[in-house]
Amino acid sequence: MKRDIKQIISQMTLEEKASLCSGSSFWNTKEVERLGIPSIMVTDGPHGLRKQIVGEDHLGFFNSVPATCFPSAVGVASSWNRSLIEKVGVALGEECQAEDVAVLLGPGANIKRSPLCGRNFEYFSEDPFLSSEMAANHIKGVQSQGVGTSLKHFAANNQEHRRMSSDSVVDERTLREVYLASFENAVKQSQPWTVMCAYNKVNGEYASENKTLLTDILKDEWGFEGFVVSDWGAVNERAEGLEAGLELEMPSNNGIGDKKIVEAVKNGKLSEETLNKAVERLLNIIFKAVDNKKENFTYDKDAHHQLAREVARESMVLLKNDGILPLKKEGTISVIGEFAKKSRYQGGGSSHINPTKLENICEEIEKAARNANVLYAQGYELKSDEINEELIAEAKEVAIQSDVAVLFVGLPDRYESEGYDREHLRIPDNHRALIEAVAEVQSNVVVVLSNGSPVEMPWISHAKGLLEAYLGGQALGGAIADLLFGDANPSGKLAETFPQELSHNPSYLNFPGEGDRVEYKEGIFVGYRYYDTKNIVPLFPFGYGLSYTTFEYTNLSVNKKELKDNETVEVSVTVKNAGDVAGKEIVQLYVRDVQSEVIRPEKELKGFEKVELQPGEEKTVTITLDKRAFAYYNVDIKDWHVETGDFEILIGKSSKDIVLKETIIVQSTKLIKKPVHRNTTIGTLLSDPILAPVAQQLIAGMRNGSTQSSEDMSEGNNPEMMAAMLKYMPLRSLVNFGQGRFTEETLTGIIQQLNDALQKENVSV
Ligand code: BGC
Repeated sequence: MKRDIKQIISQMTLEEKASLCSGSSFWNTKEVERLGIPSIMVTDGPHGLRKQIVGEDHLGFFNSVPATCFPSAVGVASSWNRSLIEKVGVALGEECQAEDVAVLLGPGANIKRSPLCGRNFEYFSEDPFLSSEMAANHIKGVQSQGVGTSLKHFAANNQEHRRMSSDSVVDERTLREVYLASFENAVKQSQPWTVMCAYNKVNGEYASENKTLLTDILKDEWGFEGFVVSDWGAVNERAEGLEAGLELEMPSNNGIGDKKIVEAVKNGKLSEETLNKAVERLLNIIFKAVDNKKENFTYDKDAHHQLAREVARESMVLLKNDGILPLKKEGTISVIGEFAKKSRYQGGGSSHINPTKLENICEEIEKAARNANVLYAQGYELKSDEINEELIAEAKEVAIQSDVAVLFVGLPDRYESEGYDREHLRIPDNHRALIEAVAEVQSNVVVVLSNGSPVEMPWISHAKGLLEAYLGGQALGGAIADLLFGDANPSGKLAETFPQELSHNPSYLNFPGEGDRVEYKEGIFVGYRYYDTKNIVPLFPFGYGLSYTTFEYTNLSVNKKELKDNETVEVSVTVKNAGDVAGKEIVQLYVRDVQSEVIRPEKELKGFEKVELQPGEEKTVTITLDKRAFAYYNVDIKDWHVETGDFEILIGKSSKDIVLKETIIVQSTKLIKKPVHRNTTIGTLLSDPILAPVAQQLIAGMRNGSTQSSEDMSEGNNPEMMAAMLKYMPLRSLVNFGQGRFTEETLTGIIQQLNDALQKENVSV
């Protein structure tokens, strides 16, 4: 329906406008009845709908309506499957329509800076490209159903420790290349209806009052059209927040924030125009929700459950297989560990939902392997870390009688959650003791992990098979059985690095910071960007995951070997399923800048595609790369910049396992040079194609002017050594060491000559 929103705003009183900028309750916006402005409901997110029935809270304490619980983001990201996450989005959108929810509070696109962050299960990846692609497709799916999303938590909210007061101190390049990039593409590609600002401060300012983030970058630069909503309780000063670009405060502020807005307008601290613009953004979305509402909508619960199972299968990652998997559906199989009956399938906090049904892992294994004899032992108590010798003895007893023991271990609920971080990466002592004890009596051990973020595995040698099941959602039981018995072929790959030990993680020395200040001192070296550059072998690298088949890569080709940075290049590679079962492979494309003036990671992910292949089948995958694939963020020009030169296109099975390589040349269309001054070094001049000829003349001048003959020269005066020493000499040294041939005046002339040479080439200085 067409409405004149500006006309509606012109009829609103100052108080009405201010009132629209905060919620009426925990989950609803305010209505203005006399102008026909309705209230809409927003609610969590992200991997299922959490619409509370009675009671309201943002920590998941009160119960909510039954909804499909899909695998958490960490798992969905491991699928690397854009269309699958879009399907999840569609299903979530349908459930929102059925429950009259206008905006789903998700997805979360924060980067996994440390594996300790309690909320990592709710985020996608340590890599911004993968994370933003997943977020973009999640948003696309939900919004295709006429329901909005809230891309959260903007920005640099990478820990739960002191999340409402900590200050993330991040340098500009790192912010742009890692932490903001994870949101940027999702905003540009999919236009979420809303973006949720984070609790924390970013470089000294609360995200909720950060104009650079909320207005300059998000709206002006990226073109975000929706409104910004505060995380629940993230508002510090309401009027300052509004001025910075925060349109909606949630939950209700009981009129306090509204009053502050009115006062700020009355005393001239906030312009009414700013308020009008905020109200316009709010009304655009409120009416969009109204116009897209599907009355009496219902959805197919069974179909959504089946989708949850399909997604869970692709979200799990096979980490180790010494030929033990897939399991035979015969003989005696022992299922050990309380997780097999009381599974951990989602994370704690605001995303905690009430599933429509929940599969029991043990029962699903029994169903899948009807002819096998399935035995069960509890192994440990979930509620404590104490080693229970009786339960261990029972588990050993069961394991001895079996052909194979499948152990279900990992992180209990209390280990990781929204609201706090972990302090170590260990699984509970009683889980570890169980693995070791069972391995004493049974050599065929398969470990299935349930956890939301990496764990250390000093016990890994005891397992012949290892499946990372993450937090698999309500259909995890069936999905695990499908994968263990080969009814489905594992196809997930890690969206994060598993370090050998916590101290190897690049943020280790600066996580979670000192008091309220956390400095991101590792800079751009997050996740594999660090491990691969530093050559630290992780337990499992980014992008790693096994399959029951093998894939061969051939024919890497590019449609041009040389391009300008305003052109694109198409990279093609052929993948073949060389085994005898169908499978899916994730083709990963990384880019390496061969030589660079700025510090860059060894390689960065810039493209990926998931392909399904029957045995013997091959497919050619084509990935298009544009400027951003080669660029770094240049803080001087405040823009993305490509340095002219060679770039390697690397095709990998993981970030560590590069199978094919091709080199191309990318030419920058923008030459950036710093103006030459007294302290520019001679080496800088010599490495510059425009300035080098002038500099060569200077050196020749120095040499020719020497009174010594070459025979007289000591070894330290030979031309190569002289050039090497001159390299780091500033121009002003010509005056000191030029034996009178350079005066301050000649130096000024030389500097002028060099800057003129730059100007002539039309170079921006
Ligand atoms: C969380 C958000 C959530 C909100 C509402 C906050 O505590 O950080 O992710 O959407 O509560 O439950």
